[in-house]
Amino acid sequence: MWVVPESEIAGLMTPQAAFDAVESVFAAMARDQAYNFPVVREAIGHEDALYGFKGGFDASAPTLGLKAGGYWPNNQKHGLINHQSTVFLFDADTGRVEAAVGGNLLTALRTAAASAVSIKHLAPKGAKVLGMIGAGHQSAFQMRAAAAVHQFDRVIGWNPHPEMLTRLADTAADLGLPFEAVELEQLGADADVIISITSSFAPMLLDGHVKGPTHIAAMGTDTKGKQELDPALVERARIFTDEIAQSTTIGEAQHAIAAGLIGEGDITPLGAVITGQHEGRGNAEVTIFDGTGVGLQDLAVAAKVLEIAKEKGIATKVEI
Ligand code: NAD
Repeated sequence: MWVVPESEIAGLMTPQAAFDAVESVFAAMARDQAYNFPVVREAIGHEDALYGFKGGFDASAPTLGLKAGGYWPNNQKHGLINHQSTVFLFDADTGRVEAAVGGNLLTALRTAAASAVSIKHLAPKGAKVLGMIGAGHQSAFQMRAAAAVHQFDRVIGWNPHPEMLTRLADTAADLGLPFEAVELEQLGADADVIISITSSFAPMLLDGHVKGPTHIAAMGTDTKGKQELDPALVERARIFTDEIAQSTTIGEAQHAIAAGLIGEGDITPLGAVITGQHEGRGNAEVTIFDGTGVGLQDLAVAAKVLEIAKEKGIATKVEI
């Protein structure tokens, strides 16, 4: 079995490689060559931890495996970050375990890559202004991936905890982009592309805020009950997702579905736009990518980083 430790991932994986891996697995899903297994997520009653597995199989690669891990809220006392995960890859021909790959940084990279893929395929023509809602750990990765895939002139941002906005300002400065903190009304009116990445449980961006052609990558809602967008905005938009089954149950669409504003048939897998099976934005004014995070994304980036690590002689082989 190959081992690629968490400490090596930053030096191996690039945002571009993550983008390519995620775009290609979304396309494989749309071609019915790849599918995700049902997600297991358990509150284990120990250390307030949420532990689970996200797995799948991509026959086009082939890539088989799972990401195991979750959220340990008390990890600071151990000097560790709260999100902990490891990706295990298996040989699809024999079932033998092929690799264990650190999954913490990869999770941020694959999440940012998903919204960047949506921006590449769905951003309105001539989009210039990137609006960021959220200033936590993921937000910097999101901004970097968006800026890598589309040339923005400036970034505007809002966060429910304004003291965190320095992260957005610093990241924009690093990217050579001007940054301004604004109110949500201005963000919705001025931004051509909006990324929302918070842990909110109530709508923040309202239908009335969003003016003109806009693409929204809604990335924060990945659990039942979480919510960032006004259901009326979701109803008005053309909706895309990584996986419909997750979008309707744990994604942003869960609320508009529960309110009877939209049905499952109103949601299109982003992969269908990548493969050309769906026209994408078409004449829609607002598009939304409901990015819920699927196991196949984790496997795709882990398989890529394993390939790079083997090429560079950084993966370690152990017998099990
Ligand atoms: P973080 O803890 O570093 O930052 C949290 C962000 O949410 C900050 O902007 C904070 O101001 C805001 N926030 C906190 N409590 C809030 C509340 N009650 N209402 C509104 N906003 C609130 O978290 P992070 O690692 O940046 O992750 C942000 C979100 O993204 C989380 O919900 C996480 O589960 C989600 N996420 C989604 C995917 C995916 O694939 N879709 C992947 C990773 C993380």
